[in-house]
Amino acid sequence: MRPLIPFVHQLDNAEADQWCATLRELLPSCDIRLFSQLSDEAKAQVSVAVVANPDPDEVAQLSNLIWLHSVWAGVEGMMANLAHLPFDIVRLTDPHLAQAMSEAVLAWSLYLHRDMPRYRQQQSLNVWRPQSYIDACDRHIVILGLGVLGQKSALRLVDNGFRVSGWSRTLKRIDSVACYMGEQSLCELVAQADIIVNLLPLTPATKGLMGRDFFNRVKIGAALINFGRGPTVIDDDLLQALDEGQVSHAVLDVFAQEPLPTQSPLWGHPAVTLLPHISAPTSVATASRIVAANISTYLTQGTIPPSVDKTQGY
Ligand code: NAP
Repeated sequence: MRPLIPFVHQLDNAEADQWCATLRELLPSCDIRLFSQLSDEAKAQVSVAVVANPDPDEVAQLSNLIWLHSVWAGVEGMMANLAHLPFDIVRLTDPHLAQAMSEAVLAWSLYLHRDMPRYRQQQSLNVWRPQSYIDACDRHIVILGLGVLGQKSALRLVDNGFRVSGWSRTLKRIDSVACYMGEQSLCELVAQADIIVNLLPLTPATKGLMGRDFFNRVKIGAALINFGRGPTVIDDDLLQALDEGQVSHAVLDVFAQEPLPTQSPLWGHPAVTLLPHISAPTSVATASRIVAANISTYLTQGTIPPSVDKTQGY
């Protein structure tokens, strides 16, 4: 009998069909099916599932699940709802995703570095006023989170001449990037940063990390790029910091509620650039290849890829 692998999702049908079709091509010896196509008997047979923002109640029905593979990098939703269940949770780590994220970090760092928000505003007022030029090596960019995405982004910024520091839970060693850990270092780092890039996962420790205290410590006029998760930033505190000029500009790609509600004051704020969660989209083509390779290894050798640390939440 072919191993049965369900795709458990809350995507639209066309997207789900695309994932299933691609996985079927890559795993011809497996029976890839949508969760909705499983009988109760079939649900009990499943040892591994592929998921995209799954309904936790559906995953919980897979009573003999040993591990699941998410096709997304962030796992905070599953940590909140499924971490108590005994199976392992494997998230997507994809070099293509890291490349896309590093490109976004570079693009929006250059946008801030070359004063584009200010020139845009000057243009709207018919103002011709050159701003003073600052060398990239004199811009200090601090990346919070030196994981798969943060490290790639840090190196891309270094390649483009910026001065780069990074902060993580455990200390890293990365050529040309000054690395730090711990609360005291965070306070010192944000006080020196011209641009702060958030690439932390959302966990109990990072939720609300960027609130009033944090913004009071940043260098006056620093800019923020949030490409991690929305709830790491307390929106009201950010808005106050922007209104007071403590933070000069924020590029926001992720929000506590997505899509961002139309009544949010972030939409119309002159010092906010708002993006609809596009900094590093999962590629079905590359992610499917990674998922399929991991499942093949499991089916032939019994090896499960490194899984999320449920005590840390990422
Ligand atoms: P990762 O490899 O798990 O790296 C996470 C980094 O954050 C690690 O360096 C980790 O420290 C650090 N960290 C975690 N908790 C911390 C804490 N309490 N204090 C200090 N540092 C902490 O994750 P990733 O693949 O780089 O992805 C990062 C996040 O990006 C994802 O969780 C997701 O939320 C977000 N994301 C956004 C998009 C988008 O389109 N906007 C796309 C993909 C992902 P250690 O190295 O010491 O473990």
